[in-house]
Amino acid sequence: MRGAIQLDEHFDRVGLRKTPQRLDVLEHLVRRPIHATADEIFAALNRRDPRVSRATVYNCLRDLARTGLVREVPGEGKAARYDANLHRHHHFICDVCGNVEDIEWFDVPASSWQTAAGKRRIRESEVVLRGVCSRCA
Ligand SMILES: [Zn+2]
Ligand SMILES: [Zn+2]
Repeated sequence: MRGAIQLDEHFDRVGLRKTPQRLDVLEHLVRRPIHATADEIFAALNRRDPRVSRATVYNCLRDLARTGLVREVPGEGKAARYDANLHRHHHFICDVCGNVEDIEWFDVPASSWQTAAGKRRIRESEVVLRGVCSRCA
């Protein structure tokens, strides 16, 4: 399966051991890029395989986030939302429905934030655009 092979490479790249559970969580986020919460991911995987526990899903998300394969999406709401982080992109958040959408990557010139960043070492910058999505407009 082509998708699985590509994900293998990502595990190798960050040096994280590929376990079936970690692969399932990452694959779910890649296949359904809706910025799911940990509970939503758990519910989906548990429906498919009742042996999957909530703790397993949380542990996988933590490991995947630590190595940068998954990231927490900035936004409102109590529960963190997660995103496979295999391709760089920005986000758009709708004021009306709260949906978080991926936006194609564009470079933010360092000159625009360098002074404000001061002595901090910046790893990356990302942009969150807010407004009204096409469905709510
Ligand atoms: Zn909307
Ligand atoms: Zn995203």
